[in-house]
This record gives sequence, C-alpha cells and structure tokens, in this order.
Amino acid sequence: THFGYEQVKESEKSEKVHKVFEDVATSYDKMNDAMSLGIHRIWKDIFMHRLGPTQGTQLLDVAGGTGDIAFRFLNYIVNDHCQTDCHVTVCDINVAMLSVGKSRSENLGYDPKFISWKEGNAENLPFEDESFNAYTIAFGIRNCTHIDKVLEQAYRVLKPGGRFLCLEFSQLENSAAQWMYDQYSFQVIPLLGQLIAGQWKPYKYLVESIRQFPNQDTFKSMIETAGFRNVTYENLTLGVVAIHSGFKL
Ligand code: SAM
Repeated sequence: THFGYEQVKESEKSEKVHKVFEDVATSYDKMNDAMSLGIHRIWKDIFMHRLGPTQGTQLLDVAGGTGDIAFRFLNYIVNDHCQTDCHVTVCDINVAMLSVGKSRSENLGYDPKFISWKEGNAENLPFEDESFNAYTIAFGIRNCTHIDKVLEQAYRVLKPGGRFLCLEFSQLENSAAQWMYDQYSFQVIPLLGQLIAGQWKPYKYLVESIRQFPNQDTFKSMIETAGFRNVTYENLTLGVVAIHSGFKL
C-alpha cells in the first residue's frame, strides 16, 4: 500500500540520518583516542572511581554525549554488585549524540532499566529540584556559554548531600610543560583533525576553548559561588585535565 511504502521510506531515512551520526560518533571516538593517545579512557575510569557509586546512586550525567560516562557507571555498579536503586540519566543538548548512545547501549547489552536518555540544555535542565544524588559532567562544561548557569542548575537538581563532579581540560602545573603542551595542541591537534576527521577548524576551536577555560583555582571559586561546599580538585596528567568535586550540603 501507499501507506506501507511511506513507512519504508521514513525508516530508510532515519536509518540514513542515524548512519551519518554514527559515522560522526565513530570518528569522534577515534579522535579522542588519537589526540589523547588513548588516555581519555583512563581519565574517565579514574573519574568514575572518584564518584564511587554505591547502592541508591541516582546519577545525572550532563553533556553525556554517546554514553562514555554512563557506561562506566553501569560497569561499576554491575561489578560491585550494588545495582539496587542505581540509575543513570544521560542528558545532552544533541539528540543525534543521544541516539548513537542509545544504540551503543543496546549493542553493549545494558539493561534499559538502569539508564535513560533525555534531551536538555545544561544551562536549563529539564528536571525537578532535588532529583538526583550525583551529578557528573565530562568534557562538557567547556562548551557551555554560561558556566555559572550550568553550576546553578547542577546545584538545583541535586538533593542535599548530593555530589557534583566535573572532568575537564585544565592548565598545566608547570610552565615549561605548559609550553610543550601548547606546541603539541596548537600544531599537532588541528593536523590530526585534518588527517583523521578531514577537518581542521573544529580542532583549532577545540584547542582554543581549552586555553580559554578558567584554571583550576578560578573554576573552584565558581563552584563555591554556586553554593557547593568542600570543593576540591585533583589534577591528572600534570593538569592536562582536572577533576573538580563539590557537595550540596
Ligand atoms: N561526556 C561525553 C564524553 O566525555 O565523551 C561527551 C563529551 S563531548 C566533548 C561534549 C558534549 O556536550 C556533546 O555531546 C554536546 O552535544 C554536549 N553539549 C554541548 N553544549 C551543551 C549544553 N549546553 N547542554 C548539554 N549538552 C551540551
């Protein structure tokens, strides 16, 4: 029937769109590996260990993209047998990223009862006050226009006692190391972008956005200004990235 034909065309189209974004996501993952020499995986593992989910952890992973942090959370709770009342909500402004995340989740065989996906802006989260007891954002806050709004919203959706954790590129501790890192990032990263993803500009932007992001201490003060307590940070790989932590008390 005509109707049936339309149905096929529709699903073909969404399949095509899906394929395109899957390709993007694949080169995105490849780029992450190439640029960081695979180290981003270790940073994310450490990040999840710092969170240390326990029974009842209801996590909101903002700017969660294709699920890298959420999957680590699920592996953690499965390996530590603490699934009781655990859940992760992945929130991202880009539905295409979320849809790639969903199919990755199916392919990897995760139980859908532990994970949900929600389109939303970190600066204006589509969740009620005090809905979660943990909030993570990994390599996402740097892309947001108003960091203060992101932090305000993180504070709002967390329950009292809830924890905020952020993984983000930062500034190196040592100025000679920073100089070498700058040479690497300004020259090698756009070149890798060109060679691997066929694009120079987005990777030049990436490097610039890293340099413009507030340093560890400035970002720590911003987190405190949003109302968080016991705010600390930990540098990984000499400060190439930092993990900031705070509590809503
Ligand atoms: N957290 C994932 C990871 O570590 O692999 C993805 C990081 S990716 C570099 C940045 C993500 O932030 C993208 O998926 C993008 O769509 C999302 N993003 C950018 N601006 C956002 C906003 N205002 N609110 C929510 N997500 C946003």
